[in-house]
Amino acid sequence: EEKTMEKIVALCKNRGYVYPGSEIYGGLSNSWDYGPLGCLFKDNVKNAWKRKFVQESRYNVALDSAILMNPEVWVATGHVGGFSDPLMDCKDCKTRHRADKLIEDFTGESADGWTNEQMQQFIADNNIACPECGGHNFTDIRQFNLMFKTFQGVTEDAKSQLYLRPETAQGIFVNFPSIQRTTRKKVPFGVCQVGKSFRNEITPGNFIFRIREFEQMECEFFCKPGTDLDWFYYWKDFCKNWLLNLGLDEANIRLRDHSQKELSFYSKATTDIEYLFPFGWGELWGIADRTDYDLTRHQEHSGKDLSYFDPETNTRYVPYVVEPSLGADRVALAFLCDAYDEENLGTEEKPDVRVVLRLHPALAPFKAAILPLSKKLSEKAGEVYDALAKKFSVDFDDTGSIGKRYRRQDEIGTPFCITYDFDSENDGCVTVRDRDSMEQERVKIDELEAYIAEKIDF
Ligand code: ATP
Repeated sequence: EEKTMEKIVALCKNRGYVYPGSEIYGGLSNSWDYGPLGCLFKDNVKNAWKRKFVQESRYNVALDSAILMNPEVWVATGHVGGFSDPLMDCKDCKTRHRADKLIEDFTGESADGWTNEQMQQFIADNNIACPECGGHNFTDIRQFNLMFKTFQGVTEDAKSQLYLRPETAQGIFVNFPSIQRTTRKKVPFGVCQVGKSFRNEITPGNFIFRIREFEQMECEFFCKPGTDLDWFYYWKDFCKNWLLNLGLDEANIRLRDHSQKELSFYSKATTDIEYLFPFGWGELWGIADRTDYDLTRHQEHSGKDLSYFDPETNTRYVPYVVEPSLGADRVALAFLCDAYDEENLGTEEKPDVRVVLRLHPALAPFKAAILPLSKKLSEKAGEVYDALAKKFSVDFDDTGSIGKRYRRQDEIGTPFCITYDFDSENDGCVTVRDRDSMEQERVKIDELEAYIAEKIDF
């Protein structure tokens, strides 16, 4: 059976993972709301990241910095002057394109770092057509800044203009001295942050792959100059393993090193971890050796000393930074795409297709569903629900045939269905059905918590 975006989007919409934003008002293009299941699922994704990057890490600490920052931050980083995409309109059908994406789709190579003139020339020389209408009538390329602007206070003048942050990273850099001082961490150490970022994308789309309001999970890892490439390889591996441990199929992942030409001018090495979505390969995770670029820029622009005193060598230096940057929505989409499966339990003539979301139990919105075999057992089964709900998100369903209830849980990815039957009160056991194998086993009610806890670990 074919895995398509249409099917995945429909499941998300119909089962409460992701709804189109502001739908009763006709929507707001490319905005999405996470429903009851979607927000549990996305929290699980973020918690899985925090657990491995912060809780279990000997090196890293957490931060939650403000979305609104002093606008000088974005002057220092170059975002005010340069955080833009090359925009081009088709004169025939009026659709808007990113010139670099047109070139990338045509050549399979990146056009990052090309000038407007180079891109325009390339598009003309290669006769690249508008993907919408096939026309060749394009406007000149102009740079379009991706930062959302807003105003603070009562006056809407240039002095009160602020930006919604386009990345979470800068909140980490500007807090570097405070974090270093208060935690007394010695380099190497990392600072991790999960939070919203905003980019006025020209070509949003592919569901939650590219949206204008999204969440990032970023780690800025500060290390001694000269050790940076070792740490770059360390984090590259760490990130890949995080994805694999949470069940992503290795065949759908590739690591793409940026070529010398594609590298940002400040970066020594960058690798994208890409995922094979139903619409093609897309960047999930950018891992970059950013050298001392960010701290140095902020040091120069703010006039504050952001160097680190190394007590071992009695010297001062500006640390180098390795940054693994992951989109929460994007990786959530990758997990959903990877998990989506259709299985024919019938025959070719009489198909009986079961849709099953094979999410890693750690990511599944509900860890288990409690299903009383008969409504008469609802009260007793409710006690099992109450006990488990103290520890995990669990569902309760006492409507419809048991077969239909299993299928509903399969479709939303619930790893275990717990059936409370007429024997349960006597033997203190329930039947646990495994989502993937559909095998059933008898488990003591007293042992359910430990049973689930073990299965959802990663
Ligand atoms: P792209 O080339 O896809 O625009 P980028 O290289 O600009 O991405 P980064 O600035 O490196 O992306 O951002 C780090 C991560 O944040 C990306 O790998 C992606 O997972 C996520 N991300 C960036 N932009 C978006 C967006 N518009 N919607 C959802 N996630 C995003």
